Amino acid sequence: MGNLLVNIRDQKFLLYEQFNIESLFKESKFEEYSKEVMDNVFNEAEKMAVRVIAPTRKAGDKEGCTLKDGQVFVPDCYHDASKKFSEAGWSSACADPEAGGQGMPNVLHKACCELFGSAHYAFSLYQFASSGAANLIENYGTETQKVKYMYNMRSYKWGGTQCMTESNAGSDVGALSTTAKRLPDGKFSISGTKIFISEGDHNLTPNIIHTVLARIEGDPQGTKGLSMFIVPKIRVNEDGSLGEPNDVKPLKVEEKMGFHGNGTCILSFGEEGNCIGELLGEERAGIKIMFGLINEQRLYSALHGLSHASGAYEQSVKYAKERIQSALVSKKPIPNPKPVPIIQHPDVRYTLTWMKSYLEGIRALTYLTALCTDMTAVSKQEKERAKWNGLLDLLTPVCKAFSSDRAMEICSAAMDIHGGYGYMSEYPIEQYLRDAKIACIYEGTNGIQAFDLVWRKMDRNEGEYMRILLGFIEDTIKTSKNIEKLKAFGSYLQDATLEFTQLTEQMRKWKNENDYIIPILYAKPYLTIFGDLIVGWLLMQAAEIAINKLNVIYAEAGVEKAEMKQMELAKERTDVAFYQGKVASAMFFISNVLPTVKTRCESIMRGDKSAINLNEESFGYWF
Ligand SMILES: Cc1cc2nc3c(=O)[nH]c(=O)nc-3n(C[C@H](O)[C@H](O)[C@H](O)COP(=O)(O)OP(=O)(O)OC[C@H]3O[C@@H](n4cnc5c(N)ncnc54)[C@H](O)[C@@H]3O)c2cc1C
Repeated sequence: MGNLLVNIRDQKFLLYEQFNIESLFKESKFEEYSKEVMDNVFNEAEKMAVRVIAPTRKAGDKEGCTLKDGQVFVPDCYHDASKKFSEAGWSSACADPEAGGQGMPNVLHKACCELFGSAHYAFSLYQFASSGAANLIENYGTETQKVKYMYNMRSYKWGGTQCMTESNAGSDVGALSTTAKRLPDGKFSISGTKIFISEGDHNLTPNIIHTVLARIEGDPQGTKGLSMFIVPKIRVNEDGSLGEPNDVKPLKVEEKMGFHGNGTCILSFGEEGNCIGELLGEERAGIKIMFGLINEQRLYSALHGLSHASGAYEQSVKYAKERIQSALVSKKPIPNPKPVPIIQHPDVRYTLTWMKSYLEGIRALTYLTALCTDMTAVSKQEKERAKWNGLLDLLTPVCKAFSSDRAMEICSAAMDIHGGYGYMSEYPIEQYLRDAKIACIYEGTNGIQAFDLVWRKMDRNEGEYMRILLGFIEDTIKTSKNIEKLKAFGSYLQDATLEFTQLTEQMRKWKNENDYIIPILYAKPYLTIFGDLIVGWLLMQAAEIAINKLNVIYAEAGVEKAEMKQMELAKERTDVAFYQGKVASAMFFISNVLPTVKTRCESIMRGDKSAINLNEESFGYWF
């Protein structure tokens, strides 16, 4: 029986069978891990997600967070759940043990986070974000700052936030106006207002450590003049005890479309001229520090989307098996036609298979991106390290934008499967749909991700990392040619790869020939094509593994040549049902989605500039 949050069998398939993460355990960094340990980790994560976190989802949405007497209050049920979640050490589990973590491989950790996120992402983010802010202090803080702040954030004794956005500085973070004035003791007086700050204030922990981007008085305008500061809600004395409040005030809990379970705040710093911050890292290194964290934060945004898509899909499968509606269509009249479970209707099957293949695809893409960080960490040779780090840089914007965009579509399709009930709040789908959307916007909008891909990542190191990735895809195409059932699909994947390679060449040419506006104009569709290609590749790789496993099972059962019997076997054996499902996901995706790559590439290649050339007047709004 599934947990209605995430298909753990698919998670394990990716980790154990497709990405073979057991090979990581040969490295000293992860030598304490083994398959048995991983199984235990999954069991515990599932229990935490189902028993502790999921029960907070409705309350988070309905009660939300409220501001009263200068303090934000979370729903009551959060307190016990948060305590259990932090005591188990989940949010910082992938940090190094010396830095307060458990040294867990990032890819395993993110698989667990998919479970927590699917149970209730808005709740889980309180601790994920605190761990993210602690990472900044780990990487750039002094030993004193680590002792003073980081360990308490890792254990979630204290919360943590990242405060960048201001009313006039969203995507253009360099436009921010929060200032930092030098004080005689080397600290800074911080003054400004930040908006849209996730878990900006709450009563879950007695202190919150804000990491704040601000400009030291006299420093240049733009991103080059930004520095990062540690600004506690309550000042921390030298002996670690809590001191005076630090003039950081929540002015408002934002009213939002969804994600109510996470209090998004307007925060004022230094309204009374008494907010003290400590410099983190060097002066004017704020943007570098922020970018040091950005890959990890964007991976979390991908997970945010993925985990909502995951829950929405699992619920849809259950609903489609239970909801009885309409008899099957038949050419001949049937006496007393009986209504059937809706999973038997072809359109529902099409939608579910579409959802399944994209969901498995974005899960594989997200885990692969997380795996790149582990591979970077264990690589001994500089060249190898640079390769995995380069792949991480290339995949991150695609993983963030593609996964969150497809997740929205999956949640929307889940609502279609549920019919009118999906629109009602007694079912979880409408909340998944509302809560998922913000993943497309925060941590850099998906438009900004597309720009990042085309402008910076696509050509990094003269396109070396793109070539490496395309090489991986070529390897999978080659192996598919040896598997009878996949030969034709391998050719579709090959065609799509060729089209994409030619398009990438053309994008490069436009950039070099100073026609750079075209690649920027088409950055989003380019990213989507790239995402589809990567998903096609990863699904094909999965199908190759699944077919090999199935062949062994069929031989043992003596049904190698009997297709009907093979399908029958799936009713008795869950492993057969699972592997057949993996093959179907790949075949469906490669024959229905990948062929569209050709026409989409062709339309970008035409380089039509109407969107650019159009006068702003012609867009209208007064007509
Ligand atoms: C619920 C929620 C939680 C958040 N949490 C945090 C948080 O914890 N900390 C924090 O600091 N911030 C947070 N944010 C802020 C979030 O990161 C910003 O909203 C986001 O970066 C976009 O900025 P903006 O809203 O000002 O939109 P704008 O920057 O005004 O963008 C509007 C549109 O213009 C496009 N655009 C802008 N510039 C360009 C460009 N150069 N090229 C192409 N397109 C462009 C964007 O892609 C977008 O489509 C949160 C926001 C929300 C809604």
